Amino acid sequence: MPEKLIYELSKAGRRGYTLPALDVPARPLESFLPKEQLRRRPAPLPEVSENEVIRHFVRLSEMNYSVDTGFYPLGSCTMKYNPKINEDMSSLPGFTGLHPLQPDETVQGALALMYELQQYLGAISGFDAVTLQPAAGAHGEFTGILIARAYHEKQGNPRRVVLVPDSAHGTNPASVTLSGYVAKTVKSNEQGTIDLEDLRRNLNEEVAVFMVTNPNTLGLFEKDIVEVARLVHEVGALMYMDGANLNALMGRVRPADLGFDIMHFNLHKTFSTPHGGGGPGSGPVGVKAFLEPFLPVPRIVKTEEGYRLSWDHPDSIGKIHSFYGNFLVMVRAYTYIRMMGPEGLKQVTEDAVLNANYLRVLASRALPVAYNQLCMHEFVLTGKPLKQYGVRTLDVAKRLLDYGFHAPTVYFPLIVPEALMVEPTETETRETLEAFAETLQKIVKEAQENPELLHEAPHRTPVRRLDEARAARFPDLRYKHPE
Ligand SMILES: *Cc1c(COP(=O)(O)O)cnc(C)c1O
Repeated sequence: MPEKLIYELSKAGRRGYTLPALDVPARPLESFLPKEQLRRRPAPLPEVSENEVIRHFVRLSEMNYSVDTGFYPLGSCTMKYNPKINEDMSSLPGFTGLHPLQPDETVQGALALMYELQQYLGAISGFDAVTLQPAAGAHGEFTGILIARAYHEKQGNPRRVVLVPDSAHGTNPASVTLSGYVAKTVKSNEQGTIDLEDLRRNLNEEVAVFMVTNPNTLGLFEKDIVEVARLVHEVGALMYMDGANLNALMGRVRPADLGFDIMHFNLHKTFSTPHGGGGPGSGPVGVKAFLEPFLPVPRIVKTEEGYRLSWDHPDSIGKIHSFYGNFLVMVRAYTYIRMMGPEGLKQVTEDAVLNANYLRVLASRALPVAYNQLCMHEFVLTGKPLKQYGVRTLDVAKRLLDYGFHAPTVYFPLIVPEALMVEPTETETRETLEAFAETLQKIVKEAQENPELLHEAPHRTPVRRLDEARAARFPDLRYKHPE
């Protein structure tokens, strides 16, 4: 690593802080804590000067790639510009100083913001009721399926199966399994959308839910969605929408109008809050009125006396998140929605789709587009033609880093061999899109002329190829101080 650990920079006696002299009588620690719980030796914390602390962390931050430093075309993730006013609002002391156990009457502003955010999300999606409890999209899926289960149980039979298209995100079947259902796959047709014949074959009274991403992960709008919803409802099953791709619909189409009964939002995607690296997210769930009784508790309700948390919902699936530790994500999404307004959100959708199609046509000069047709907010390329030069999509992704671009999503969706999934978002300029497409062409040429260059990429990043499997299986998270 080109940057030492802060422990390795440590020199005994160095200090990065200055505190005023104690102006109250000092009391020994033993008077606060039982003696056997006190340390015998001081913890081996790093001892560094203020300059060293600042420089260490600034250097680390400069090694990171971010939306603030470059183009981040990560398909399925909507890595768009995060307006800095969101950060301003989410750092207001009235918000950052909240304690999760404060009584309702002392957090009226926060509850008002959450209540209104629920209303906005309802208006954008067409759903009658929204909960902000789930902490991420996948958590929203889990919540949505539990709501469906509670509904079916109330009808007398929880049913057994949840259908998921073969293009779905991996979290979909995972949420299904966690909820105690069996996930069954519905095939895609030659156009990359749901195969109606295969859906009909799989539909019966055992099916509880059909989980659909629309537009799907190929960036294609499910044109038959109204017919799909009719077939699914005919057997008494519910329609769930994975709303990760809402950035392609806002202001133009309301998922509830398409026949969906339940949906999750990814505030950290559609509504411009920073994400990545497993940071905080927010995955609210919207439902139609007949499912409202099953939403998690406590619900945020508006009464004559103000906002409060209400637990009195006997059919609720219960609590699915201890505290709103991700509240500041909601503040960012709220700020963004208020700033854009209905017309602004519609413009976002239109520009996201325009940018994706512009880039799709340019990028198709480098690599073939899988299911090449007018797309929504993203599209998928295939690196298959590079196999003849011994080059894989992974090599292309790594080489892009050398040119200062973040790589697109790779090897997803699974139904496209050697997939590169590109989502430019609405916030990029024409010049950026053109530069990215030209770079892709340059890399394809390199693959033909000098494949080794790609095998060894990246050449210019602080670290080279990491063993990703090892990193996930044997995470080394603890610094062991040499005695
Ligand atoms: C991101 C994503 C999810 C999961 O959402 P998280 O917020 O990352 O948990 C589910 N489905 C699709 C299509 C996604 O892109």
